[in-house]
Amino acid sequence: MSGTDLSLPDLPCQEFVALVTDYLDGALPAHQQDVVAAHLAACEGCTTVLTQWREVIALAGRLRARDVGDLDPAVRDQLFAAFRRITRPDTAAPPR
Ligand SMILES: [Zn+2]
Repeated sequence: MSGTDLSLPDLPCQEFVALVTDYLDGALPAHQQDVVAAHLAACEGCTTVLTQWREVIALAGRLRARDVGDLDPAVRDQLFAAFRRITRPDTAAPPR
């Protein structure tokens, strides 16, 4: 269903993951920044993802958020595995 332009549309977590680097870079248009902020306020999983990205960026020192997309594939694999655990909890491995 394509909703008309109500207030703030809900943002699917997968879309948040796609936008997170631009969000951290402040590269999103203002209205999308608001959508992301609203989603973050309501979604604990994506807040965790955002925190993880910030940690990666801090560890990477002078890298900008967008450069994290070009990081070592092993590092990215770990991040994306974390995203999958958060956004698709039903597919996560059972606790040991
Ligand atoms: Zn979310």
